[in-house]
Amino acid sequence: MLNKMLSQSIDTLKGIGKSKMKTFSEHNITTLRDLILYLPKSYEDRRNPTAIRNINSEGSYFVVGRVLNKNFKSNWKKSILNFDVIDSSGAMIHVTFFNAFYINNLIKEGKVYSFYGQINYNLGWLQMIHPEFCEAESESDIRGIVPVYSNISSISGRQIRNFIKQINDIDPLEYIEEWIPESILNTANVCSISYALKGIHFPKTKSQILEGRYRLIFGELLTLETGLLLIKGRSRGDKFGPVITGERMWDYIDKLPFELTEDQKKAASDISSDLSSSRPMNRLIQGDVGSGKTVLAESSMYAVAKAGYQSAFMAPTEILAKQHYDTISKTFNKYGLKCGLLVSNQSQKLKKSVLNDLKGGKIDVVIGTHAVISDKVKFNKLGLVITDEQHRFGVNQRRMLSEKSTNPNVMVMTATPIPRTIAVVVFGDLDISIIKTMPKGRKKIITRVSSDSSNSKISRDKVYENLREEIRKGRQGYVIAPLIDESDVIDANSATKLFEEMQLKFPDIKIALLHGEMNAETKEKIMEDFYNNKISLLVSTVVIEVGINVPNATVMVIENTERFGLAQLHQLRGRVGRGGDQSYCYLILNSKSETAITRAEIMESTSDGFIIAEEDLKLRGPGDILGKRQHGLPDLMFAHLTKHIDVLKKTLQIANEILADDPNLAKEKNKMLKSKIKELYGDNLNLTL
Ligand code: ADP
Ligand code: MG
Repeated sequence: MLNKMLSQSIDTLKGIGKSKMKTFSEHNITTLRDLILYLPKSYEDRRNPTAIRNINSEGSYFVVGRVLNKNFKSNWKKSILNFDVIDSSGAMIHVTFFNAFYINNLIKEGKVYSFYGQINYNLGWLQMIHPEFCEAESESDIRGIVPVYSNISSISGRQIRNFIKQINDIDPLEYIEEWIPESILNTANVCSISYALKGIHFPKTKSQILEGRYRLIFGELLTLETGLLLIKGRSRGDKFGPVITGERMWDYIDKLPFELTEDQKKAASDISSDLSSSRPMNRLIQGDVGSGKTVLAESSMYAVAKAGYQSAFMAPTEILAKQHYDTISKTFNKYGLKCGLLVSNQSQKLKKSVLNDLKGGKIDVVIGTHAVISDKVKFNKLGLVITDEQHRFGVNQRRMLSEKSTNPNVMVMTATPIPRTIAVVVFGDLDISIIKTMPKGRKKIITRVSSDSSNSKISRDKVYENLREEIRKGRQGYVIAPLIDESDVIDANSATKLFEEMQLKFPDIKIALLHGEMNAETKEKIMEDFYNNKISLLVSTVVIEVGINVPNATVMVIENTERFGLAQLHQLRGRVGRGGDQSYCYLILNSKSETAITRAEIMESTSDGFIIAEEDLKLRGPGDILGKRQHGLPDLMFAHLTKHIDVLKKTLQIANEILADDPNLAKEKNKMLKSKIKELYGDNLNLTL
């Protein structure tokens, strides 16, 4: 088959030897197919030559003219070729080639050629050095709309263009395999893959390029969305899950010492009706730090327990799991419900008894890290699975947990305020509840940027003065550093160094150091002491980023603010301002970079997580926010989740239609699409189809 050729190694091309092969493969290009998926970064319109007489500034030009005054000089080592080119406008440019033994033979005096290259002024002359050229009548690739490829290390874009042309010569792209079913290409009005690639590498018109690009984005997003829906396995017809009297949530809520905010109430009633229906819940609760998501988890687990089912609650860190366990088990015990904790760092004996009790149905709620989804854990009657700070878990991990029971209700909670439009697509078929209103009486955290420069709005000394004042009042504080230890390479403050400095500065204050490389026991002891106000000041790395709840902490100092992303700063800041007291956040900036300053200023001006997320999106692009690390989505080559949101929506809809017609992609027409999905998701997609 012809397209087998595309799987051949690129060193079958003329001009690619060992060293180029190595360079290419360092950039994940090893086959001819990889190379044709390397797209031009831009195009040069060389359809119409510029009249030399009209050239009045330096730049890249396409000219066509006759070669005159050819002059070739050489010794055994070096050579230089000079000639003039005169065109129909009657004006001339001077052309020079160095080391031109080979070119000297190609250029004939008196013949007409096309030239493309940079024109510079040299002593009043227009001069071109080493232009691209071809005979004027030839159908060469230097004329027309010419693709420009980025260099790959030492391999120039021009060489790459030549290699791609070679591929086209041996194996016309027409034969590249199509993976989107034809009926879909027709209804969606999208061109075939071969037409697209041909149009992108060898365009005749500009619209061909656009059509081609659209096709690649469409194809990638269709694969992404169909894959997502497959992973979630929800489009395989109706599923039935446990039916729970959701209204019992309100029994729990009514006994809380505070009233729910409007958005919390709305979310609670969403959850309540999800639980009551036979269709399993699949809901994302999105709410800013401190907006009160935990009570929603608690009240739903309460209702589920009252209906005789078990719940599993997963937190991203051991510290957080333990903290949730402590608070939740206290309240639940009062209602006669039993909680268990499962973390990797606990005695075998305790673990065993929790596992036994879970299996025997004696435990109503298990709280833990991903230890909860290890194979050893067996449930008696699992009815609800909750993950806190969902973005920390991959798609697969969530799926594994859901597999522990037949269609449990699933609820994911996140403080990462992903704009709704994107969330809808990224999380496919999840229903979404958003909590925007903050609990009453919550004071806005006062945020100030400080730098060591003289025009800083607040000095470091003043920051420390305020820190001391808060602690004197009995409050607690955090100092956050980007590094654990001093580094020779990175110029940033380390927690260890700051810890020493703080001890010298505040000899009378109880200070502790916390970082990720400490063993779990030590970390937990420190957190516990901080929680119980035995420690007043915690010097820490970002291990405290997620979800720690110490309402008495009112002040946070973040060192080297420039080293943190906006979303991360927002998370960090959310550790203070959790009680009724006025809280403060000081951002210490050690950089004059514009982005760093802009970021700090955004933090100063708003506390709305959604605005911060939008700004973050603008500053960093979606790659970082919706990075693989965060949600388990594969890397995309062509599409942008935010830029191509319209295509994303369209492909989501089509993906749904495809799966409605063929839930397992078993039909012949969908075979190629299915293998494309496997290719895109790689190891992350453990599809047993
Ligand atoms: P997050 O959404 O960040 O997980 P939490 O659930 O930890 O926030 O809630 C933060 C704090 O706010 C907790 O101490 C919680 O008891 C309290 N809280 C939650 N809802 C309300 C409310 N409606 N009114 C007052 N306090 C509330
Ligand atoms: Mg939380």
